[in-house]
Amino acid sequence: MANPARMSINQATTREQHSLAQAIAAYAQAGVPGISIWRDKLAESGLSDAVRMVADHGLQVSGLCRAGMFPATDAAARQACLDDNKKAVDEAAALKADCLIVVAGGLPEGSKDLPGARRMIRDGLGALLPHALAAGVPLAIEPLHPMYAGDRCAINTLSQALDLCDDLGKGVGVAVDVYHLWWDPDLQVQIKRAGDRILAFHVCDWLVPTTDLLLDRGMMGDGVIDIAKIREWVDGTGYDGLIEVEIFSAENWWKRPGDEVVRTCLQRFNETV
Ligand code: ZN
Repeated sequence: MANPARMSINQATTREQHSLAQAIAAYAQAGVPGISIWRDKLAESGLSDAVRMVADHGLQVSGLCRAGMFPATDAAARQACLDDNKKAVDEAAALKADCLIVVAGGLPEGSKDLPGARRMIRDGLGALLPHALAAGVPLAIEPLHPMYAGDRCAINTLSQALDLCDDLGKGVGVAVDVYHLWWDPDLQVQIKRAGDRILAFHVCDWLVPTTDLLLDRGMMGDGVIDIAKIREWVDGTGYDGLIEVEIFSAENWWKRPGDEVVRTCLQRFNETV
């Protein structure tokens, strides 16, 4: 069983209930030691206030969500994306985040060129990396389930993400999210291959049936993922960082009181992770 002292909650889990200030207070009050922060919520609070609130409550920031979305139809759009990604790096540095989560992006509008999109992802990461290295912010490439290859992320397996890490070198690692990777027959081998490049570990559950591709993630224990098994594999690499609960659930958990959601996350973390 995972130690609850390693738990973090991704603030998207209570995004409908809590502002950033409210999430920080609610998680800290419940005894959760970590939080992962989203940039839209950060923009509402302001960076300096967020840095102060996180420090005041003694929370560790397991990640900042998110950078990426590299593929674009023209050079000007790719440059605008790079500029925004650099700003995300600076925000992650100010928050002392463990990593900056990278969701790489899917096909540019009107394109069917998947290999081309993947080249733009590689080039975009390569362009961002010097800024991230200078700021001391590790970039965590998060492979997303293949159902998102068209619109969100053309990096869909841990193997693909690690190939990118091999290519780019120091300063780049991976985020392992059970929701995106649980189905992969090669997962155990690839987690072992990742070794010390695992920068983040995200948990929730896969519901059967899943009724929405984005917003129907399950609470741990309500679905079919053997989360503890994958956690053992991740621990086996020597990963001892925070384990982040990340649940987008428009029709269920986003409709319940925030304190109930946080309480349930803690309980299920203890029972299933
Ligand atoms: Zn995730």
